[in-house]
Amino acid sequence: MSIPDYFGCMVFNEACMKARLPKETYQAMKKTIRDGKSLDLTVANVVANAMKDWAVEHGATHYTHWFQPMTGITAEKHESFISPAGKGTVIMEFSGKELVKGESDASSFPSGGIRATFEARGYTAWDPTSYAFIKNGTLCIPTAFCSFGGEALDKKTPLLRSMEAINRQALRVLRLFGNTDVTSIKTTVGAEQEYFLIDRDVYDRRKDLIYTGRTLFGAKPPKGQELDDHYYGTIKPRVAAFMKELDEELWKLGVLSKTEHNEVAPSQHELAPFFTTTNIASDHNQLTMEVMKKVAAKHHMVCLLHEKPFAGVNGSGKHNNWSISTNTGVNLLEPGETPYENAQFLLFLCAVIKAVDEYADLLRISVASAGNDHRLGAQEAPPAVVSMFLGDELSEILDAIEADTAYDAKEKTLMRVGVHVLPKFPRDTTDRNRTSPFAFTGNKFEFRMLGSADTIACANMMINTAVAEELRQFADYLEGADDFHVALNSLIRKTIKEHKRIIFNGNGYDESWIEEATTVRGLPNLVSTPDALPHYTDEKNIELFAKHKVLSEVEVRSRCEILLENYVKVLHIEALTMIDMTNKDLLPAMSRYAKTLCKTIAEKKSVLPDLDCTYETATAARLSELTNDTFHLLQTLEQYAVHAKEIGSTLETAMYYKDVVLPCMEQLRKCVDEAETITAKEYWPYPSYGDMLFSIK
Ligand code: ADP
Ligand code: MG
Repeated sequence: MSIPDYFGCMVFNEACMKARLPKETYQAMKKTIRDGKSLDLTVANVVANAMKDWAVEHGATHYTHWFQPMTGITAEKHESFISPAGKGTVIMEFSGKELVKGESDASSFPSGGIRATFEARGYTAWDPTSYAFIKNGTLCIPTAFCSFGGEALDKKTPLLRSMEAINRQALRVLRLFGNTDVTSIKTTVGAEQEYFLIDRDVYDRRKDLIYTGRTLFGAKPPKGQELDDHYYGTIKPRVAAFMKELDEELWKLGVLSKTEHNEVAPSQHELAPFFTTTNIASDHNQLTMEVMKKVAAKHHMVCLLHEKPFAGVNGSGKHNNWSISTNTGVNLLEPGETPYENAQFLLFLCAVIKAVDEYADLLRISVASAGNDHRLGAQEAPPAVVSMFLGDELSEILDAIEADTAYDAKEKTLMRVGVHVLPKFPRDTTDRNRTSPFAFTGNKFEFRMLGSADTIACANMMINTAVAEELRQFADYLEGADDFHVALNSLIRKTIKEHKRIIFNGNGYDESWIEEATTVRGLPNLVSTPDALPHYTDEKNIELFAKHKVLSEVEVRSRCEILLENYVKVLHIEALTMIDMTNKDLLPAMSRYAKTLCKTIAEKKSVLPDLDCTYETATAARLSELTNDTFHLLQTLEQYAVHAKEIGSTLETAMYYKDVVLPCMEQLRKCVDEAETITAKEYWPYPSYGDMLFSIK
């Protein structure tokens, strides 16, 4: 079957609706999708029935409301379609009510305190803008998840609210430019996903990978990524087979998987989809991660999505390409053909510049996790300081506007907004700065700080809301102006002047940049997750989310608490895993090998008393030292892990893990890793870094 023939075959998409729904129902459905309005129950009943028939024809027996609780992964509760029909028989049924709204016990999902104040029950509500699909014989209905009081308990609800917020404000701005044909705008996203693939057999022998997703021990292999021979290299047959099946599975689910290639580290790869509407891109990214794991398992491999599975080699991230599109098909971040369009482009650009500067802390928070802390600022991913790359050409234009000087020296023309045509910034001329956290790449921004395991919903919710706020301020100001063009000119100049500190076109990995950013420019440097998260509840941030009805204060506080709790839990599990591995496998192995060496010395000397046993003696001595150091660090770590439970406040506990427990874990690792380098391979209990990184032939 050709790709267009099977693309989306497991999706109840618009083509499917058109073919299967009565005309009026289809029109009503289309209107709902377009306007994001809720569906009338009589319409919902017809849609549900058609959906069920379609799903059953495609082998489905169950349905589920598919949602994204605050755990960051998707959740589902399967219900079968069967309904008793008397005389011991059943029929397959699915009502509009079941389609539109589901009830779910919210009490086992993280709520960060909301549960205490509100009811334990929660409900899920269909997001009709994201198509239903069939996965593992189950009809999945993408839904939002809320408490009965209406508080969001998931990642999708605030994302949808943020899309509404930016739609409202962007339309006001477009109207000011005399634009009357656009009726809605949507933000668009293409999320590039990095991952590692390793062989199942080596994975099964690493407790740390199984329990924590990353290696907590492991000496550096002789060869890592130094030769840069993996990046864009030939894809190995096993990986190629995996990628082929992954593409096919994703295409069936309507995911626009487009590009697959090898990444920098050995065994690291990337998948990039074609961009789409943000909430769908977010659903699709969740699906992509899930399907990656499933397909890897079929190929006797494991897909690692952790941000830093291996120390010393690049970790994995996610590049969130973001733009704004009108329903008439115009990309608002694309410089236009006429001066008028350019002025509009510059205003939207200024909104993003101001948003990133004023809400840099929120962008940092949106990517904060224990896993991602290992990447940010580690010379492989952007630093924890948020800045923006615009490229030389665009920066020069902004400079000229700000100074009211000639941009093009030859033409001696003043750079007045709305007078001159801006040059286009074709992809190949915007320099590809790969070290910037937030880079303009011609007609979109690439936010590069996201971790590979994280959902993209939070980052996009933050970007959308922050930009909505700046557009709101711009619209307020311009709507009240006597002369639109004069006001527009001064607004753009003022914004550039006040927020240009966020623009940085140099090397973001440079030490000197962090110095300049923090001391000269005063940009926030929120190094770790516990440093960043408390700013979630800063007054200006609570105000922002409340003003745009994206998150209430209660919701912000609960989210902050959940993220901190998660950080604590992750580190606690890592500490316990280290303790377990050290006690049960590593110390015994080290001791056993030292004993073997000593026995060898004794046996050799019993035959030839004058034999020189330098290797055995020196190694046994060093190994014994390391064994003792390891043991002491282990005892310390055990005490810390107990103490951490007694601290009480989540923030203090998180700080304790970061400042006390994590450094101890690192020291313990250092001892064990050195021991690994001098212990005979057959004695070492775990596959080495070399075994794992080069496990796929
Ligand atoms: P690269 O050179 O980094 O591969 P591309 O231009 O091919 O850059 O795009 C990278 C990602 O950006 C892809 O996922 C692509 O679909 C996405 N993208 C392109 N245009 C847009 C847009 N207007 N909005 C959101 N994402 C976009
Ligand atoms: Mg990229």
